[in-house]
Amino acid sequence: MSKELKLKDGSVVAIIGGGPSGTSCAINLKKESIRMGIDLKIVLFEGKDFDYLYNQCVGVLSPPFERILTNELGVEFPSHLIKRRIEGYVLYGNGNKIFLNGNENEGPTYAVRRIEFDNFMLDTVRRLGVDVRKNRTTYVEFIEDKVRIFGERGYLKADVVVGAFGLDESMLGVFEKATKDSAGYKRPKRLLRSYITKIFARDDFIDRKLGNYIYAFIPGTLPNVEFGAVTPKKGHIMVNVAGRNVHSTDLIEFLKLSKVMELLPPSEESGEPDYFEGMFPASTSQNPFGDRFVMVGDATGWLRPFKGKGINTAFITGIKAAETMLKKGISKKDFEQYAIQCQSLTDDYVYGSIARNTTHIFSSIGIFDKLIDVARYDKKLYDGFYNAVSGHDSYKNIFKKIMTRKTIFNITKGLIFSFM
Ligand SMILES: Cc1cc2nc3c(=O)[nH]c(=O)nc-3n(C[C@H](O)[C@H](O)[C@H](O)COP(=O)(O)OP(=O)(O)OC[C@H]3O[C@@H](n4cnc5c(N)ncnc54)[C@H](O)[C@@H]3O)c2cc1C
Repeated sequence: MSKELKLKDGSVVAIIGGGPSGTSCAINLKKESIRMGIDLKIVLFEGKDFDYLYNQCVGVLSPPFERILTNELGVEFPSHLIKRRIEGYVLYGNGNKIFLNGNENEGPTYAVRRIEFDNFMLDTVRRLGVDVRKNRTTYVEFIEDKVRIFGERGYLKADVVVGAFGLDESMLGVFEKATKDSAGYKRPKRLLRSYITKIFARDDFIDRKLGNYIYAFIPGTLPNVEFGAVTPKKGHIMVNVAGRNVHSTDLIEFLKLSKVMELLPPSEESGEPDYFEGMFPASTSQNPFGDRFVMVGDATGWLRPFKGKGINTAFITGIKAAETMLKKGISKKDFEQYAIQCQSLTDDYVYGSIARNTTHIFSSIGIFDKLIDVARYDKKLYDGFYNAVSGHDSYKNIFKKIMTRKTIFNITKGLIFSFM
């Protein structure tokens, strides 16, 4: 069976979704298939017009995204997309804060406008000659040796389909149904909800108040908010909160915190903000591939917990899925190679979840502020905070590096003294 499931001249690959996972998959497929001398037909379906409809995002591109773009996709990141080059972070507990600066060994961090970034990626795909169709798909069937993809503006018969539609509720349901009697794809069970608002401000105000820093909050006083952030852009500031049980009213409460208010312009200057809502996966999906289908990006749930770096996960999964399809094949067995190649994403999951849960507990019982004090003189804990907030290192490595006798001693001493 798996022998027949190979891509060859004339094979059709359908990609549903033109976000970072779908576009990176399309770019890699197109370039590599040409290099390998396979004449593929690649069709990418995207329902949104990125000139005015966007995917919810703060728009922070974290390392090593630039290296992935350049080295793995051969795409040069255009500097005109950069709204800010982020130099560091300020991490807030309830009543304490610390500036976190690190090195840029892994590459720079940029704040961009997501709509411009998505437009750039989709244009790159078009320029390479991929057939990009502005068509929202509605249904998928696996019949005989083909995948049938139905959309609002037409139908396609393909050899394999790539699920790059993020957490689109209806597509998740369609794939669960279509694969029920075969591979049995199941969406990520747990999701983190996020509310986001854009606050307009003059650039001189942003430069003076925020500079090129992202302000990350673990506000133990707002029980539904696992984390919040204030991110400087050009002409505006993004504020977002996230948590499993967060509501829009939590964002309003977050905006009222004095430490948040002092970073924002007085309300008469900023005007009435708009609120948007989005989701992050907070657990992995089940069976994200099978004969003739593979999930990439958010639909896999292979996102780094906490500091998500979802765009990087989307790139990595998109690229590795393309590589596997070309070099191995399009059967369930072949895609096991894809899962192995993405193992570093899933391996960190348990460590990230521990970091997320302990931070939340420590913050609500007041211990987090004490840890910030310890990080002022313990370099390993300081680096751990920096790497966790910036996403520069895996949680597994962060834990490994913190677990030294000296740091454990410093943390224990700091906690004992603070309670005396
Ligand atoms: C509030 C918020 C802030 C975030 N901020 C950041 C950040 O700053 N940095 C970061 O790295 N990550 C961030 N993320 C996560 C990041 O946005 C995602 O992890 C990433 O975009 C996932 O990429 P994707 O390609 O899998 O899905 P998406 O980016 O969601 O793309 C899916 C695409 O598929 C299209 N689509 C869906 N259904 C269909 C259909 N039926 N037919 C055709 N097209 C369809 C959609 O229109 C969309 O364009 C944030 C997420 C949220 C919710």
